[in-house]
Order: sequence, then structure tokens, then C-alpha cells
Amino acid sequence: MTLFLLAGSFNSFGQIGPNLGQTDSWMKSAVAAMERNDYQAANGIFRNLIDSGLPLPEEMPYYFAETLFQLGQYDNSANFLNKYLELSGFTGDHYKGAQELQKKLEGPLHDIQSCQLCDRKGYRYKVCFTCDGNKQIEQECSYCKAKGVVGCSRCGGTGMITKKNIFNIVEYFECERCSGKGRLTCPVCNASLKEVSACRTCGGSGRLASEVLCDHKAEEEHTH
Ligand SMILES: [Zn+2]
Ligand SMILES: [Zn+2]
Ligand SMILES: [Zn+2]
Ligand SMILES: [Zn+2]
Repeated sequence: MTLFLLAGSFNSFGQIGPNLGQTDSWMKSAVAAMERNDYQAANGIFRNLIDSGLPLPEEMPYYFAETLFQLGQYDNSANFLNKYLELSGFTGDHYKGAQELQKKLEGPLHDIQSCQLCDRKGYRYKVCFTCDGNKQIEQECSYCKAKGVVGCSRCGGTGMITKKNIFNIVEYFECERCSGKGRLTCPVCNASLKEVSACRTCGGSGRLASEVLCDHKAEEEHTH
């Protein structure tokens, strides 16, 4: 087992149960990765630790917050930093470092909040591929199945309605509603055969979150 861990296969051990040795070894590897500025690797190890369901060491949220800061995931960084401060308060070993990180986060978090190009986590919006940013889509009218007309419900599509007169004799009348045609112009598409509805892919916003961290610059300012 130990050998297996040293080989770097972290993924499949989550189900084995609490194992402090394992948590320790992950923490050491993650902090070592941070020390050599390999924050991607540290991120991967921290995520394995979280996924494992093992109890998290008290200092873990602090280190993870620092890692996320370095990776530009400021919103997430702030979440873990707050978690750390909440759990360890003033007494944590990294209280001072946590305060410094909080300061460093202020600027980037403010930039995210004031940027219209990214979501509140700082991920760049992209144009919705379904509606092409139009927020709504035009499709065939589903009410009339793109026929433009629907059957008249008053006369059941016959164009005639029947009434019994005082002699109990059935009389036929032209249906007023459809003028005897038995059909009505589709009330949904008004015979345009098209129906416009809010785009379901983007919920009518015209945009989708991407996995690209935003630099808060408009497209024109990008060099590529
Ligand atoms: Zn859309
Ligand atoms: Zn009718
Ligand atoms: Zn229609
Ligand atoms: Zn932005």
C-alpha cells in the first residue's frame, strides 16, 4: 500500500477508510509542490484529499487557499480562506499568513465583481452556442406543428354547430368563431409557423460560463 502511494496513484484509495498516515503524506506532497511553485500539482493533491472523504487537516484550507490564489481562482481561494479562519480563528498556525492572503485577495475579488465579462467566480462568459447570444431561439411552432392553422374547438373542426329549435328539430348553423372554415389561424404563431422562445441552453441570458479565467479585458484588447 505504501509503495503504491509513493508511486503517486492517489485516486483509488478514498474508500478504504480513515487513514491519518495517508492524509499526512498527501499534505506533505502538496506543501512540497507549493514550495517548488508547482501549484497545479498541489491543486491536484488537495482535490484528491477532498475527494477521498478523509477528515481534512486543520491547516489544509489555508494551504489550499494559497494554491488557488496562485492559480487565479480567487473566489474559491476566498472560500477556503474563510473556512480556515472560521475553523481556526485567531489561534491557527497560519493566522498571519491568512490575513496577508485576505489582503492580497481584495484587489482581484474587486476586479471580478466590477467586470461584466465574467461570472462571480471570475470565469469568462462565452456566447451561448445554441442561440448565438440572441437569448431566444426561433423554432417551428409546436402548437400548430408549423401548419399555421389549428382546428376550431367550438365546432370540432366541422365549421358547423348544431342547435335544437323549440320543435326539437336539429338546426345547423355556420360556426361563428371560424366562419364555417373549421380552422383558425394559429393563435401562437399567427400563421408565421415560427415560435420564438427563450433559449433553454443559456436560460435566456445569451451567455454561458466557460472554464477560462477572465482577465477582465474586452475581446478587442486580446492580442490573439
Ligand atoms: Zn442561448
Ligand atoms: Zn368553428
Ligand atoms: Zn403556430
Ligand atoms: Zn472579468
